[in-house]
Amino acid sequence: MEHATGKGGNKPVKTKVKFVDDEETKVVKASDALPLPLYLTNAVFFTLFFSVAYFLLTSWREKIRSNTPLHILNLSELVSILVLVASFVYLLGFFGIDFVQTPALKDEEEEEEDIIVHEDARIVPCGQALEIAPIASAKVTQKVSYEKPAIETPPPTAEDEEIIKAVVAGTIPSYSLETKLGDCKRAASIRREALQRVTGKSLEGLPLEGFDYESILGQCCEMPVGYITIPVGIAGPLMLDGREFSVPMATTEGCLVASTNRGCKAINLSGGASSVLLKDGMTRAPVVRFNSAKRAAELKFFMEDPDNYETISMVFNKSSRFGRLQTIKCAVAGKNLYMRFCCSTGDAMGMNMVSKGVQNVLDFLQNDFPDMDVIGISGNYCSDKKPAAVNWIEGRGKSVVCEAVIKGGIVTKVLKTNVAALVELNMLKNLTGSAIAGALGGFNAHASNIVSAVYLATGQDPAQNIESSHCITMMEAINDAKDLHVSVTMPSIEVGTVGGGTQLASQSACLNLLGVKGANREAPGSNARQLASVVAGAVLAGELSLMSAIAAGQLVKSHMKYNRSSKDVTAVASA
Ligand code: ADP
Repeated sequence: MEHATGKGGNKPVKTKVKFVDDEETKVVKASDALPLPLYLTNAVFFTLFFSVAYFLLTSWREKIRSNTPLHILNLSELVSILVLVASFVYLLGFFGIDFVQTPALKDEEEEEEDIIVHEDARIVPCGQALEIAPIASAKVTQKVSYEKPAIETPPPTAEDEEIIKAVVAGTIPSYSLETKLGDCKRAASIRREALQRVTGKSLEGLPLEGFDYESILGQCCEMPVGYITIPVGIAGPLMLDGREFSVPMATTEGCLVASTNRGCKAINLSGGASSVLLKDGMTRAPVVRFNSAKRAAELKFFMEDPDNYETISMVFNKSSRFGRLQTIKCAVAGKNLYMRFCCSTGDAMGMNMVSKGVQNVLDFLQNDFPDMDVIGISGNYCSDKKPAAVNWIEGRGKSVVCEAVIKGGIVTKVLKTNVAALVELNMLKNLTGSAIAGALGGFNAHASNIVSAVYLATGQDPAQNIESSHCITMMEAINDAKDLHVSVTMPSIEVGTVGGGTQLASQSACLNLLGVKGANREAPGSNARQLASVVAGAVLAGELSLMSAIAAGQLVKSHMKYNRSSKDVTAVASA
């Protein structure tokens, strides 16, 4: 995963870069030596300390009342004093260890941290968002806690308890809870409790409350037990085709939003980016089989005959107001025929729409080709959610090209590199390097980072990130090599603003922020097309920023700074 922000230009930076594995470095603490988990040991000693203290105080009060000398001790008082001293020593040791550890751990990273803070004071870091956030508060936010969610789930009622037991015993199938109870939230709560009991694993941390479970029924997710929270950051504004867009990005990758934001800033300061939609059509390709290759070829010629197109498109179009057949491309493999139908889909991403149209045509063809055996409505020549040259070459969904001219001064000031370095890096990395790697649509630095984050935020199908991230990034020195022309060409951006996850509250809010929520009534399809352009624009920003960070030699350093929190990951063990 590559993405980073950079600073410092090409100046050699004296910072000691400490390499860390992908797994967080384990910080060994003295408290690790305890036989029980730390919280249990603490609980035991706290309880002991206070109970023996209470016992001793009450017995001494009795002695004072009965005029018994205090130094005369019976056996239980002797034992209590010993326990009191032992637990006192432990508690003192525990807080002492923590006290000693904190400055010790601090020492280790102090030097590096000081340099980062010092540099931040000197140079603009990776973008606007970071400029606004004070360094001190950035440090505070790194103290991630694994506390309980704010909204507590109440314990199950007696009636729910019975149902939970039945689900655990297998007498009520978990999948049937929504239908049986007619209450999706209650079904999720019962399923979750049953799951915890069956597996013996805690789901604490996975929220249940605060989600509309009715909204996903029969559409987005089956058998829910909660929902995952992903932070949403905003990159931008991005000036695209004369309009400003604040781009929502759902991600847990440090640097990504800040980096894209920096790219947006460079684009804006250079007058903005512009995009062109080259093509808009979703595809589905069924596979049918005949007894001979000859018959398969006959159907191919039938499908490709312009005289038959009108009839076929009429049949195809009858199931939707928005799905309009555009092309059919056929490929023969022996006795098998693959027909790649392509159609417009309005504001929907369109998989359902195109599949319904294809089914209409298959039913219709059965009359003229009764020996046609429909093997599957999808024969992978579509091609959905798999890397495939057909999407890279022909396009799928929206094909968009997006470009900008970045002024030389902005390249230096905002991106901390220079035009020649960027052009050379693009040629050797995105073009030659990807060719050497045998890339399929991967002639870019990290298009999929931006695509995935925007897809998650706006309710797109994240699995379609595969073909949606196909992208060739081009960079060229123009205006006497003073300025940079940068473009991204993305042939398969598969997005919609209706259907699927787009209608869920959070995702819908992000679409609203972009001004593309739901169906566009005046010009059906224009919301989805606009979203595709925004995706391409954000990718352009992301490419600019990461390429600059690499050109300036800042990639590792930025990640060390923004992608590594100081929390002790060893504290997070499975419960
Ligand atoms: P997909 O084809 O992406 O899976 P769905 O079939 O779930 O999408 O959602 C599309 C539905 O939304 C269709 O029933 C369609 O009739 C309806 N719809 C309403 N307005 C529009 C629009 N502007 N563009 C596309 N579909 C629309």
